[in-house]
This record gives sequence, structure tokens and C-alpha cells, in this order.
Amino acid sequence: MLVDRFGRLHTDLRVSLTDKCNLRCAYCMPAEGLAWLPRQEVLTDDEVVRAVGVAVGLGVREVRLTGGEPLIRPGLVGIVRRLAKLTPRPHLSMTTNGIGLAVLAAELAAAGLDRINVSLDTLDRERFLALTRRDRLADVLAGLTAAASSGLAPVKVNAVLMRGLNDVEAPALLDFCLHRGYQLRFIEQMPLDAQHAWDRTQMVTAEEILDRLTATHTLTPNEGRGSSPAETWLVDGGPARVGVIASVTRPFCAACDRLRLTADGQVRNCLFAREESDLRELLRAGASESELAERLRSAVAGKRAGHGIDDPTFLQPARPMSAIGG
Ligand code: SAM
Ligand code: SF4
Repeated sequence: MLVDRFGRLHTDLRVSLTDKCNLRCAYCMPAEGLAWLPRQEVLTDDEVVRAVGVAVGLGVREVRLTGGEPLIRPGLVGIVRRLAKLTPRPHLSMTTNGIGLAVLAAELAAAGLDRINVSLDTLDRERFLALTRRDRLADVLAGLTAAASSGLAPVKVNAVLMRGLNDVEAPALLDFCLHRGYQLRFIEQMPLDAQHAWDRTQMVTAEEILDRLTATHTLTPNEGRGSSPAETWLVDGGPARVGVIASVTRPFCAACDRLRLTADGQVRNCLFAREESDLRELLRAGASESELAERLRSAVAGKRAGHGIDDPTFLQPARPMSAIGG
């Protein structure tokens, strides 16, 4: 089992399938993009499946595919199909910007994908263009519809609010999701942008988000967060809920059960970790199952108690969110 020094059991693995993306969200990437990983450094399909298989053998039960943009990974459907055949079969989900999902949703569901999170920060075309630097809102909306009709339920929507850009849209995003039966979760912006432009004083906090939502809806705290990063509230008495992932103002590190594998095969025990453990090197050197398992175990063992964003010595990780796998 993957247990750290603080007794936290790790059952949730986030797997980045690529560091590339077809959007340039302001809180994530610069307009010109990034220096992408050389192709030979990215894990092959076989390597991804083998690494996840070892993690599943160590108690991982939830596998979330992410990136970069996972939908642009060649061979994605095949990877999902193979992961769904692992024993015990992990629960398979994906976080995506939704572009291309209209075409792939049914195929992904048939391959074994169980659930999907689509990122959507605005319903306004101009604002979408300003925020992501691409005119692709219609593709995302089509992707959401396809996901819901393909049975990738419940469809979850992730939204990041930026002051002066889309923060006024919180209630509109909630209404959009309520009407369609999507579960909306707001994520506080974290210091994980490639540009290192994050400014705590500018961040839209969970408290502000809740203030905006309560102007138009009644929110009742929903107990029982478990290891989920989202605190949830019943909307207008329920059963619909809205979540807020307040990684900065209300950290949930004490209950963290997550581990990450980057597209180039590095194990990270935290989004904010400053060290990585090289699994790719072992995979390519013909390592045995137990050698791979040992590297995963020691990566988890070295996890720190918390992300330390509030610590004066905090340093933003060298890799941005898109390269780590959000
Ligand atoms: N491209 C996919 C997407 O956007 O859903 C998957 C990767 S993206 C890095 C995963 C999630 O991280 C998205 O919901 C995105 O909004 C969020 N994200 C990216 N940068 C962030 C930041 N600096 N703070 C908080 N969330 C961030
Ligand atoms: Fe791409 Fe996702 Fe980053 Fe936006 S948040 S630039 S969609 S990786």
C-alpha cells in the first residue's frame, strides 16, 4: 500500500498523458505556449499502462487522466481500454478542456471511461477568447453535451475565476450547470502558472465565490468532505450541489490521497512538490514490478505534511500545472 509518514493512504493517481494543449488559459500558460517535452521523453502507451498497473497493485483505485490536454494524446482511447482491463479495475476519469470531446465521448465511454471533468470558466464567447486565447467556446459546449449523452455521468465542470475577467460569471455558470444536471466546482487559482504571475492579493477566494453565489441562491453546507478536495453546498435545498476547491485559503492536505505521474514518467507526491522520482528510467531499464513498486512507495513516503503556500519560504514549483498534470 502507498502510505506516507503521516498515515495518509494514497488511492488516487493523476496521470498526465501530454504536456501539450490547444488552449492557453491565462492562469496556466503563456500565449506563446511552452517548450513541449521532446517526444522520446514522453511515456509510451505501454509504459503508461505498466506504471498504472503497478500503482493499482499498490492500492490505487481512482485513475484520472489529465495533462496538458489529454484529448490530444494519440492513442487515448486505446490507453483507456487497456486501463479498464487492469485488475482490480480502477475507476477511470478524465479532466479535459472538452475540445474534441464531441467526437470522442462515446468512444471513450465504450472503452471504459467512467466519468469526466470539463473545464469551463465562462459562457461568453469574447471572454472565452480573452481567457484562453482561442475562439473555441462552441467546441467545449458541444463536448459537454456529448459527454452527458454518452453516459459519462455525473459530468463535472471545473471553473477558475480571475478577478476582473470572469469573476462576475459565478452565478451564471452555476445556473448553466443546474439546468443541465452538471456538477459545478470552482477552483481557487493556485501558484502553478508557467508565467509565475500568481498574486495572492488578486486571487478570487472561496469566500468571495460563495458571496457571489449566495446573492442569487441559498447554499447549505453539505457535510462529509472525506478526502475530496471540494467542499460542497446544497443549492436551494438540494439535491443539486456546488463545490469549491479552496486549495489556498482552506487547504485539505491532511486528507490528501493523491499521487501524480507526469507525461515524462516522473512521480510527484504533491502538486507543489519540489522533487520528483524517476519512474521512466526504471521502466526503460527493464525494472521488475517490485523495483517499480518500491519507487512509488518511496515517492509517497517522502511526501511533506502540506503544500506550504503560506510559508515565507514557499517556492513555486519549476513545472507549471500543465506539465505536472492537474
Ligand atoms: N487541459 C485540461 C483542462 O483544462 O481541464 C486538463 C489539465 S488542466 C491543468 C486541469 C485543471 O487545472 C483545469 O480544471 C484547470 O482549470 C486547472 N488549472 C490550471 N491552472 C490552474 C491554476 N493555476 N490554479 C488552479 N487551477 C488551475
Ligand atoms: Fe490547457 Fe488545461 Fe492549461 Fe487551459 S488549464 S491551458 S486547457 S492545460
